[in-house]
Amino acid sequence: MAEMPLIDPGKCDGCGLCVGVCHCNALAIVENVVTIDSGTGCDWCTDCEAVCSTGAITCPFEIVVQ
Ligand code: SF4
Ligand code: SF4
Repeated sequence: MAEMPLIDPGKCDGCGLCVGVCHCNALAIVENVVTIDSGTGCDWCTDCEAVCSTGAITCPFEIVVQ
């Protein structure tokens, strides 16, 4: 399975910003916490991490430009 963003549910306030920016529809808010549908394609854009103000969602696969 492809790597997906990591979620810390304790930090997520359910604002939904990450859901709004995810163009792959890989994210959803369930009971006020973001969840990832691992069956949906994530193209590792890291937009969800960039938009999250609480640091609840992180992308361990960030591409390092050398
Ligand atoms: S942007 Fe951050 S705080 Fe808001 S729903 Fe997504 S993970 Fe949770
Ligand atoms: S890295 Fe991009 S495609 Fe993957 S869940 Fe986050 S916003 Fe969606």
